[in-house]
Amino acid sequence: MAVPRTRTSNARKNSRRSHHAKKPKNFGKCSNCGGSHLPHKLCMHCGHYSGRLVIHAKKDEE
Ligand SMILES: [Zn+2]
Repeated sequence: MAVPRTRTSNARKNSRRSHHAKKPKNFGKCSNCGGSHLPHKLCMHCGHYSGRLVIHAKKDEE
């Protein structure tokens, strides 16, 4: 097994981990109700996807 010859310094370790932070997901805006939804997913507030009703959400029972 390969063994590291020198200890990784704190600065090198931390600079390597500078890219590890989670980035916020880019939510889209619903064209029907204006709420946020994930891209290529239907809106969970009103149940619409690309301007048409896909599922009947629990909130608005008509
Ligand atoms: Zn919506």
